[in-house]
Amino acid sequence: MSIRLQTDGSSSELLRFDLHTHSVHSDGTTTPSEISQLAASLGLAGFALTDHDTTEGWEEARAAASAAGLAFLPGMEITTLHEGRSTHLLAYGLDPSHEDLNIALARVRESRVGRAREMVRRLGVDYDIVWETVNAEGSARTVGRPHIADALVTAGYFADRTAAFADVLRPGSPYYLPTYAIDTVEAIRMVRDAGGVAVLAHPAAGRHRRAVDLSALATLADAGLWGIELDHPENRSEWIPVLAEFADAHGLQVTGASDYHGAGKANLLGEHTSSAAIWEAIRGQVAVPS
Ligand code: AMP
Ligand code: FE
Ligand code: FE
Ligand code: ZN
Repeated sequence: MSIRLQTDGSSSELLRFDLHTHSVHSDGTTTPSEISQLAASLGLAGFALTDHDTTEGWEEARAAASAAGLAFLPGMEITTLHEGRSTHLLAYGLDPSHEDLNIALARVRESRVGRAREMVRRLGVDYDIVWETVNAEGSARTVGRPHIADALVTAGYFADRTAAFADVLRPGSPYYLPTYAIDTVEAIRMVRDAGGVAVLAHPAAGRHRRAVDLSALATLADAGLWGIELDHPENRSEWIPVLAEFADAHGLQVTGASDYHGAGKANLLGEHTSSAAIWEAIRGQVAVPS
């Protein structure tokens, strides 16, 4: 399927938007400006920046998108937990100054630092890596396992992030630690209170033993979830139909996006996208639409 698309406005049906991307402000490897340039070169009409637990890249992305003639939607991927399941919640167009949300996000980011430091300490017993290289220059980015993976790759232990994730960084590894996550229902409540739209990220990702279950999805829908990201490179195709049927029956929107991480993951910018109708539906109801 080609993602080279018309952007002359001749038909809005041809416009495609990537609603899930990561930059150097979390675990992506490219800057918001580079994402914008790549999106323009691919013929995308617009993109959302959704770094983990931070809004740091919004300003740069907004300026770069404008310079490239692209539409921009500010977003974030929030680290949450629902009934014991690690649950990534995409939040779009929220007011970045919402106090409760900022307190919760600061707690998530601080916990991530403590957790990563302890994982690096444990790994350091058997592998020649130190916190200072993982957290180069006291970086302000949202830190995560991908940055530990990078240190292990640089030191020559693994070929790439994926190889490190399959081994020492996987849950169940003696080096693995969980990190604090916001209760998903509470996160949805705060996102809505901040004027944002909440979408459940990759609900059928193969990294889990099963797709999100329907009773959990019903709870999240009741809490105000707007959509689910069914078109995503990591969703397992056999788990999608039951979720699509549920979404249809319960008025949940279905979105598509690449979850681009630059060189940090195989996901290609624009390999999954959303329509102009989805894009406008989100922008039409949020506090910060661009
Ligand atoms: P963390 O939030 O620190 O537990 O790390 C999870 C993050 O690691 C996710 O947001 C993914 O972007 C990234 N990730 C998960 N699996 C892989 C993989 N196999 N290769 C590269 N990145 C991964
Ligand atoms: Fe990530
Ligand atoms: Fe995610
Ligand atoms: Zn993501």
